[in-house]
Amino acid sequence: MPEVLKAPLAVEFPFTRSLSPVQSAFLTGLRERVILGVRTRDGRTLVPPVEYDPVTAEEIGELVHVGVTGTVTTWAWNHAPRRGQPLDTPFAWVLVKLDHADTALLHALDAPGPDAVRTGMRVRVRWAEERTGAITDIACFEPYDGRDSEVTVNAGEFEDPVHGIVAQARLDYTYSPGRAQTAYINALAERRAVGERCPSCRKVYVPPRGACPTCGVATAEQVEVGPSGTVTTFCIVNIKAKNLDIEVPYVYAHIALDGADLALHGRIGGIPYDQVRMGLRVEPVWTEGGGYPDHYRPTGEPDAEYDTYKELL
Ligand SMILES: [Zn+2]
Repeated sequence: MPEVLKAPLAVEFPFTRSLSPVQSAFLTGLRERVILGVRTRDGRTLVPPVEYDPVTAEEIGELVHVGVTGTVTTWAWNHAPRRGQPLDTPFAWVLVKLDHADTALLHALDAPGPDAVRTGMRVRVRWAEERTGAITDIACFEPYDGRDSEVTVNAGEFEDPVHGIVAQARLDYTYSPGRAQTAYINALAERRAVGERCPSCRKVYVPPRGACPTCGVATAEQVEVGPSGTVTTFCIVNIKAKNLDIEVPYVYAHIALDGADLALHGRIGGIPYDQVRMGLRVEPVWTEGGGYPDHYRPTGEPDAEYDTYKELL
């Protein structure tokens, strides 16, 4: 059996979010090198602040100034920092209970090694040189053996408050498509489309997932399908996607390859977008060097009868 494929996969997008008054004050405070907590009715101070008391669900908003020094309540050593983390050298993730706060804040501690970190150690904020109103305005924490910081009450009112942030969300995976799709991808490299047939209901799945979702049994018999197919349904795309060099409008379609019992997705080219129709016969146009179809284009055959693909919509 050929080796199952795997490859790195990154999913990333900028996540734009608005801020509540409490979070706006907290992040604007960081920009001004002030750390604000929020006080609950029973007198606890929560840092980072939230809009609702996590115990009573009561709305809260009384902001108080807490220290820029604090105590590590627990920690874990990060020996291999990843892209986008607070430090690019090994560091400790720490929960820090800032002076005058009752809850702990998660952040990074710059320390030479795990032997230099312990629960109960005193630390202080190291501010980022450039601050924009984000949690990264705290560059990290650093060990500290000086005096506790003085604090004053702060109403959380600043000029030019931050009302929204853009967080760069990114997830790194090692993706494995599994046995069935490995065979499918390897066949694509030879410009062939190979599905798998269910031993029970005889349906041919393309791309194969390794099992029939209807019968709940493994599929193993490989079946070559296509290369031509029929447009079963389609949509016209009018919004240009970032990083996708395709002029809009264009057509994205469900295409049932000949011999397949499931339609796959593909872009339709080689025909004006407003002439694409259900039943249109198409064939793949391969990318440079093969690998996968770039798009599908009309074969010039007569349209397929509706009855031949009505179960594949
Ligand atoms: Zn089945």
